[in-house]
Amino acid sequence: MTAHQPVRTCIGCRRRVPRNELLRVVTFDNGSVKTVTVDVRRRMAGRGAWLHPDRSCLAMAVKRKAFNRAFKSAVDVSEVESYFSAADAAGPSGESMTTVQSESGSEMKMETR
Ligand SMILES: [Zn+2]
Repeated sequence: MTAHQPVRTCIGCRRRVPRNELLRVVTFDNGSVKTVTVDVRRRMAGRGAWLHPDRSCLAMAVKRKAFNRAFKSAVDVSEVESYFSAADAAGPSGESMTTVQSESGSEMKMETR
């Protein structure tokens, strides 16, 4: 257990949880509309928001327009939705998310900081 694990708020369920339980999402400019994408490596620059790797949290965030609020503009979340779809296809357990992050060994060190 890490005592000083930073805590972030999930924009879906609004629960405050240790950052390593959440996915980081960021926006990039894709022409006219900002697109939200999952920052798997948590290294992308720019404004970020945090979301459980859970479809219900994504659905809540979309429903309450939490993405638009977090990024202060209208955003396209289709990339996040396809990320979740790909994760569903990878395996029934939520563990597929951690598998993605641990593929390169250096990512694990980031997590323990
Ligand atoms: Zn959540």
